[in-house]
Amino acid sequence: MRTHQLVLHWIESRLSEGQLTVGGRLPAERTLAEQLRVSRTSVREAIRILEAMGVVRAGVGSGPEAGTVVISDPTAALGSALRLHVATQHLPVADIVETRVLLESWAVAKASPDAPELEEAATLLDGMARQDLGVSDFLALDVRFHLALADAAGNAVVSAMMGSLRESIQGYAAQLTANLPDWEATASRLRVEHHEILAAVRNDDGARAAKLVAAHIEGYYKEAGLGSGHTEQGRP
Ligand SMILES: [Zn+2]
Repeated sequence: MRTHQLVLHWIESRLSEGQLTVGGRLPAERTLAEQLRVSRTSVREAIRILEAMGVVRAGVGSGPEAGTVVISDPTAALGSALRLHVATQHLPVADIVETRVLLESWAVAKASPDAPELEEAATLLDGMARQDLGVSDFLALDVRFHLALADAAGNAVVSAMMGSLRESIQGYAAQLTANLPDWEATASRLRVEHHEILAAVRNDDGARAAKLVAAHIEGYYKEAGLGSGHTEQGRP
């Protein structure tokens, strides 16, 4: 085992045993290095890795606010990892679309009609109603609307996964606009579909909401000339 992995292993076991919790601080770099008999460079390397994973925030300076703090930010790390892997072309857009359908149709079926996140979803739709909205602003609000719907299901893991897909979704949606014959027509259709999805969730009609959100996600993809053969028409 490389020495920085020793440090990672030590921190992971402290976390899983509950001796380190969110908001807690890691021992000082020198203390940790002495305790584990590794170099301070190895401790720093381990902390950099944990920082990139959204598990700690490295501290600077001295005093009570100094030190490396345990945090929990899964979406930041998953999001940048997914974005990079989409960029390598090894995560096909078709698979992101299918994953969205999987997560989002489950989420809208599960969402409570009284979930406070639905208020935010409605506010986002008001923002998208503006006719002078640019394409990228529209798509940014669009993805936030979908995240709010997913949050309404109240499942922290699904929310984190959707949050991590955020940039990938916005990225492919923006790329596909070039393939659309008429953006304004598409935007009008998307607006109507969003209202229908939200109305179904509010009416506690989870089955209808699930069907609508799947058709909405796949419809955009198909309209851009993609997805033939990969996603079957009329699939429940
Ligand atoms: Zn949408």
